[in-house]
Amino acid sequence: MRRNTKIDTKPEVLLRSALHAHGLRFRKNLLIRLSARSVRPDIVFTRKKIAVFVDGCFWHRCPEHGTKPRANGAFWQEKLDRNVQRDREADAALSESGWTVLRCWEHEPPEDAAERVLNALPRRGGPGSNT
Ligand SMILES: [Zn+2]
Repeated sequence: MRRNTKIDTKPEVLLRSALHAHGLRFRKNLLIRLSARSVRPDIVFTRKKIAVFVDGCFWHRCPEHGTKPRANGAFWQEKLDRNVQRDREADAALSESGWTVLRCWEHEPPEDAAERVLNALPRRGGPGSNT
């Protein structure tokens, strides 16, 4: 039942295991149906309404590695523009529905990305609490 070969690309797998190492539980590739559109984040904390995407540097135009292919420049320009636009639309649709959106780059060390996710999650118990 593996139709989508983009699922489980390496950076996502690494981030998921880093999060598991922190004892977190989440859903992966869950389809979230919003009024405007449906989105499928890489990692979803359903109850906390946090959606995490791991974006590929090329496809999502990372500022460090988002190179523009020289061959068929116009074709790629348009294709990548559309990708980035879709990302922003998904972000907007999610936050309008009360979701917190986190985007990590595939070049980001998984531990750093996991740290950002941890920081976005509500803390269990306040300072000084042992729960
Ligand atoms: Zn990058």
